[in-house]
Amino acid sequence: MLTELHVHLRPDDLDRTAADHFTAENADRYLTTARERGVEYLGISEHVYRFRQGLSIWDHPFWRENAMDDLDEYSAFIREETGLRLGIEVDFVPGREDRIANLIDEHDFDYVLGSIHFLGSQAVDMRGEWDIWSGGAGPDAVWRRYFETLGEAARSGLFDVLTHPDLVKVWGDGAPRPEGDLRRFYEPAVEAFAESGVAIELSTAGWRKPVGEVYPAPAFLEMVLDAGCPIALSSDAHVPDDLGYRYEDAVALLERLGVGELCVFDSRERRLEPVGAAA
Ligand SMILES: [Zn+2]
Ligand SMILES: [Zn+2]
Repeated sequence: MLTELHVHLRPDDLDRTAADHFTAENADRYLTTARERGVEYLGISEHVYRFRQGLSIWDHPFWRENAMDDLDEYSAFIREETGLRLGIEVDFVPGREDRIANLIDEHDFDYVLGSIHFLGSQAVDMRGEWDIWSGGAGPDAVWRRYFETLGEAARSGLFDVLTHPDLVKVWGDGAPRPEGDLRRFYEPAVEAFAESGVAIELSTAGWRKPVGEVYPAPAFLEMVLDAGCPIALSSDAHVPDDLGYRYEDAVALLERLGVGELCVFDSRERRLEPVGAAA
């Protein structure tokens, strides 16, 4: 099976409204493209901060600006008007675990993706006002904090999958980057993954970004596999044409590392399916 759990029905721009994109026609475009590309399991995972209910977790100015949609309407739309699985991409906000749990428990998601985009009020993957790199932040301190926070996210037990697990590298040479063997940063996170049993996303989106490398980096992926974590494969598509992006390369990488199964979820129950395109 090939899978897509981490998919958005629209680009991240604020003018891409729910009214224009949460439609049966748009869902069909995604389903048709997925089918053409051999992807059998297709779920949608909109950002929690695009929903008004997300403000119950955090009221960062970027979240306030984005919180235009209704989470109950999104859930009802996916369940009642599409053949898609219902997921959500939730930022891990340290100290707000109870609030995150409450929001998750109020909905019948098939799975919950956990992400780290922000460290404190600053973002690792956003240019402009919130860019963590704009203030001359030292790469070692940022990377250390990023992977410690990722470990906390694993230990929180809130998430089924941790997404784009080394997002902190997104800008490649366009942001400061630590020297030497990066495994020293991955280690504390991987220890937490092993204890928590969380699944880790292999995201081909990294190949579309300035860094030009899959998430997680192959050395990180090897550590994740040694820790016994199951793998969830996705492209983080924000348009139908990115579905299955570079899946041949992802499958070849998994094969080389001896990974024969991918995880999928129904009502937050995980099961493993053999890797491979539908005939
Ligand atoms: Zn993300
Ligand atoms: Zn995403």
